[in-house]
Amino acid sequence: MASLEEKTSTQTRDTIISDKSAAQQIFECADCGLREEYHFFGKRPPFCKSIVFVEDSYIIRDPFTLQSGNNANFLLLGGNCSVCAKMTCQECSIFFTKRFCADCSQINCQLLPEELRKKKKKG
Ligand SMILES: [Zn+2]
Ligand SMILES: [Zn+2]
Repeated sequence: MASLEEKTSTQTRDTIISDKSAAQQIFECADCGLREEYHFFGKRPPFCKSIVFVEDSYIIRDPFTLQSGNNANFLLLGGNCSVCAKMTCQECSIFFTKRFCADCSQINCQLLPEELRKKKKKG
């Protein structure tokens, strides 16, 4: 089967970004291909100071609740797999003391509690 690979020529629209060095930071899940621009990577997002993540995480601010100024207005996209270090989203990964991507959670499934293993059974 020949795969047609047409390069979609996306015009860079840098009119939106007025920041000095705001290179777009793109989170891309290595498993499902989820692709989102993220605003912060780390444990302590500056826009919700009460939150400290146990791992470095990819965070986007929630644009809809940002103005309220209350609570934690963010979305957690995912993190890096602790084994192979690839980006993996919340849906594709398991967090059990560390983050495991889909592949690594299968390889290391004997380390995971049974309930997590069930969640990740292959359909
Ligand atoms: Zn994913
Ligand atoms: Zn992995």
